[in-house]
Amino acid sequence: MMEIISDPVAEKNFIPVSKIVISHHGTRDVVASLAKVSGASSPKLLMNSSPASPGSLPGILETMTIEQVRDFNPEVVVIPIGSTEPHGPHLPYGTDLFIAEAVTGEAVRLANAENARVLRLPALPISNNVNFKKFPFACRIRVETLMALLKDLVDFVCEEGVRKIVIVNCHGGNDAILASLRQSYDQHQNRAFVCLCHSCSFSDGAYDGFFNDGSPHAGDFETSMIYAIKPELIVENKLKPSKMNQPAISRLGKPGVDWVRPWHVLMSESYSGNPELASSEKGRQFLDICAAGMAKFLIELSREPWHEQFPYPPQSGGNI
Ligand SMILES: [Zn+2]
Repeated sequence: MMEIISDPVAEKNFIPVSKIVISHHGTRDVVASLAKVSGASSPKLLMNSSPASPGSLPGILETMTIEQVRDFNPEVVVIPIGSTEPHGPHLPYGTDLFIAEAVTGEAVRLANAENARVLRLPALPISNNVNFKKFPFACRIRVETLMALLKDLVDFVCEEGVRKIVIVNCHGGNDAILASLRQSYDQHQNRAFVCLCHSCSFSDGAYDGFFNDGSPHAGDFETSMIYAIKPELIVENKLKPSKMNQPAISRLGKPGVDWVRPWHVLMSESYSGNPELASSEKGRQFLDICAAGMAKFLIELSREPWHEQFPYPPQSGGNI
């Protein structure tokens, strides 16, 4: 997990996101509700010229029409990254993708209920899995390809005129790649602010209160999340604990020495931890915490005007 952006003034500036309840199946109601928000600062979001279709979700690009997109005039773009890979005998290959879509989808919904004008691109379903090759159809593209793909996506969003870009990673295998990408984006050179976070970055330490089986993959956490998102995909009679293998060189089992672990040796059943501890209640509660925290960040990001020293105050830093 990475958390690149610190958020020191979040509490001070936070505006509650629970003013409006939006039905996923009633966009007319959504737009009507948004129109009533006092002090709405983004009239282009509203729908005079772009009638909503019943299933479209404001800010979820793949559900919107061209007129809705033209009127939306986004201030922030979110790029979620998932993965398609084995998650033990009990969870679907799409676990990371589904978590990416669910957390960012809810965060964008909450943020747009406050007129934050956040547009989410479709989540990437395939990313880096160099250490999963011994499992069948662990989908993967090369490190260089993923970097090139993300650079292209960031460039295209910049060409659309959006300067605030949030990449939300939901697959641990991408962390180092994304950190390299981040280093290549200096907003003063590239005229855009690009930040990286994880689906859990805004949970403010709540994770340990929900999940403590120590699993990095397909244990209590991911099973609880899928219980909350797509319970019909869980194979319940396969829920049982499974341990991770430990390296023969003891120092490699501790933090401080970084290496790529061959997943089929680390966890022969493609998971570890105790998915029996999972529940839909834990998954739903944690998802809501993550989404609310992310929404709060997106709202702040949206409302801070763009200027040369963004994200610092306009006058700070002297002649940098
Ligand atoms: Zn996963």
